[in-house]
Amino acid sequence: MEALVKYNLDELEKFVEQLGEKKFRARQLFSWIYSKSASDFDSMSDIKKDFREKLKNIAVVLDTKIKKKQVSSDGTIKYLIEFHDGTCAETVLMRFDNRSNLSACVSCQVGCQMGCDFCATAKRGFVRNLEPYEIISQILTIQQDTGLKITNVVFMGQGEPLNNYENVYKAIERINNDLSIGIRRITLSTCGIAPKIKELCNYELIPTLAISLHCADSETRKQIMPVEKRYNLETLKDSLKYYCEKTGKRVTLEYILIGSLTDTKEMAQKLCEYIKDLKCNINLIPYNPIGTDKYKKPNKKDMMIFKYLLESQGKKVTIRLERGADIDAACGQLAGRV
Ligand code: SAH
Repeated sequence: MEALVKYNLDELEKFVEQLGEKKFRARQLFSWIYSKSASDFDSMSDIKKDFREKLKNIAVVLDTKIKKKQVSSDGTIKYLIEFHDGTCAETVLMRFDNRSNLSACVSCQVGCQMGCDFCATAKRGFVRNLEPYEIISQILTIQQDTGLKITNVVFMGQGEPLNNYENVYKAIERINNDLSIGIRRITLSTCGIAPKIKELCNYELIPTLAISLHCADSETRKQIMPVEKRYNLETLKDSLKYYCEKTGKRVTLEYILIGSLTDTKEMAQKLCEYIKDLKCNINLIPYNPIGTDKYKKPNKKDMMIFKYLLESQGKKVTIRLERGADIDAACGQLAGRV
């Protein structure tokens, strides 16, 4: 069975022509799959019956399954998606009150190679890269299941996008083209693979960039994020300045507040120093427990002091709303568990 989500419009046209059908059938199919989020051929009412029957025998829209679905009290939905080879990764739908945005948080790998010590995905190790169509399938799954149109995509599920860049870039092109989501509404989050950040700036479509900084003290960062040993804070900053210059955009720095480790006044000062000459916004993320007691949540008071110290440097600081923590769908809690 061929999964039609593998094809863009051109490829779909070739596919229908090979079946002896007129080219315009491809456009109909395309519209059913991407605009109307149809999951099966029977619902494609303007496609003639004998062609639908033919399709049913040789193709499917998606070759993925929803293995598990959990709905959080805040409306976040976490899907565990099973791919054709039986491997699984999560995709999360996030809705925010008072905002019309519907964000899909997608995985780009099953597992991850980066080994961040506070992250549940790292604990499961690395399994494989996801193909571009497997990333698109995650978004279509959400649209099919909810009947809603996704408006924003963030690469913040399992995996390190810049370790699977070819596939992620192809997926970004298709999200932009086939799903009509503007490039500004697509965010790539990376733990900081500096040379790849520079490379990203040469492409035609440059997504919004979020950096998992989490600590502005190199020694401490090394302890929690092995990537610091390869591309340290200085090298990272150099690549971020390059991105800002080339694109005219700002970067978002994500910063996990870990109790008594990264949430102290001393650490806030180091962060202020680090960002002084950087065009950035700061997104503070309270640490989400992942079932080991090595790290602690920050307390409210320390969070507020930390935020205040940064704001006094004139930076825009938000504390990330915790979404879906009751279903382990929050940042760093995705581990593909069934
Ligand atoms: N590999 C990419 C994409 C993953 S995004 C990256 O590192 O950016 C997932 C985000 O959740 C990252 O910012 C990650 O550092 C953060 N995160 C991981 N574990 C967490 C935890 N226990 N609590 C809060 N945030 C966490």
